[in-house]
Amino acid sequence: MDFSTNELTEQVAQTARDFALQYIKPHIMEWDETQEFPVEIFKELGKLGMMGVLVPEEYGGAGLSYFEYSAIIQEIAKVDGSIGLSVAAHNSLCTGHILTFGNEEQKKEFLPKLATAEFIGAWGLTEANTGSDAGNMQCTAIKDGDDWIINGTKNWITHGKSADVAVVICRTGEPRTRDNCTAFIISRGTKGFSGGKKENKLGMRASETAEMVFDNCRIPDSARMGNVGSGFKQAMKVLDGGRISIAALGLGIAKGAYEASVLYAKERHQFDQPIASFQGISFKLADMATEIKAAELLIDQACDLKIRGENVTKESAIAKYYSSEIAVKVATDAVQIFGGYGYTKDFPVEKFYRDSKLCTIGEGTSEIQKIVIARELLK
Ligand SMILES: Cc1cc2nc3c(=O)[nH]c(=O)nc-3n(C[C@H](O)[C@H](O)[C@H](O)COP(=O)(O)OP(=O)(O)OC[C@H]3O[C@@H](n4cnc5c(N)ncnc54)[C@H](O)[C@@H]3O)c2cc1C
Repeated sequence: MDFSTNELTEQVAQTARDFALQYIKPHIMEWDETQEFPVEIFKELGKLGMMGVLVPEEYGGAGLSYFEYSAIIQEIAKVDGSIGLSVAAHNSLCTGHILTFGNEEQKKEFLPKLATAEFIGAWGLTEANTGSDAGNMQCTAIKDGDDWIINGTKNWITHGKSADVAVVICRTGEPRTRDNCTAFIISRGTKGFSGGKKENKLGMRASETAEMVFDNCRIPDSARMGNVGSGFKQAMKVLDGGRISIAALGLGIAKGAYEASVLYAKERHQFDQPIASFQGISFKLADMATEIKAAELLIDQACDLKIRGENVTKESAIAKYYSSEIAVKVATDAVQIFGGYGYTKDFPVEKFYRDSKLCTIGEGTSEIQKIVIARELLK
């Protein structure tokens, strides 16, 4: 397998890099401090095709591959993980679900608007009492004539308040039975659908995380995606792709923290020499570089399999698990290399440190990735 970066991937990465440095970098601490979700940035990213990276051109998307998608998320996350998280959630989850499981009418109605960021998308699987155990959800959709009535609350939803459209997975069968969930597309403004509490988070603070509340929300059967009962399996498939983007998110954060650390280690002097000359520091940099390279290869392998249409459940979980864990480790070591300055908001590494932790939690915790990997190995 040859994973050397091709010209298109490099061009796309350069565009994302330039955008992140020019339009995101100047604001990251302000957005972080105030937890502002900068919707305008996403509209601009939409103009560059970065909000519909995998969407074919016939539906208004950029029609690019997972390699370019991974490069975009990495370049943005090198600057600001929270914008990277929102771009990943919009592309992989809401848009990705409609792209993979929507019918032609649903694709034509929603994909062009999502791909250009005219619509911001959300995807609701998690609930307050059912995170890792998502299949045990309590939010229900009950058939009423030709309609469905939705009741319940989805929690921890990226863009839960601001999304224009949401894919929501609801229980349509008895609890703890097989095939008891179904996916629906619900537009903002539908009576009975509202945004709830916004979370005050440790990191990823410019990415909005909020409740979505459904109170006797009536939607037509045409909002259903796929067969009744297929929602959980659809969600797991969507997460197979989504986990590649969270792996890329972790890798981008790790790269940002590593690059800042290399510069600082060369500039900072103690005992009349750059701290990089101390083995205790240079070995940390060597470990970081090695872990980053390994994560890169795992992500490239998952992208390659996905592009070739092969089952990627194990490989995306491996990439997500490893990349997330090394993101936390690299960011932690970066704070150590910066010493006291790393513990302040005047330098970038404390934010990488806070943001990195989300990667081991969102789209399935590291423990859940290990369950997925082990299940696949032992089949
Ligand atoms: C910033 C952010 C954005 C998010 N965005 C979205 C979104 O857009 N849409 C969405 O649907 N969800 C979203 N989530 C939810 C996320 O997917 C869940 O938080 C995650 O799946 C974990 O669920 P939980 O928080 O309920 O933890 P729990 O499931 O309660 O887990 C708590 C701990 O127990 C461990 N654990 C649980 N079960 C097992 C087991 N069987 N074996 C071993 N250990 C176990 C977990 O690994 C974890 O360490 C988001 C979360 C965050 C923080």
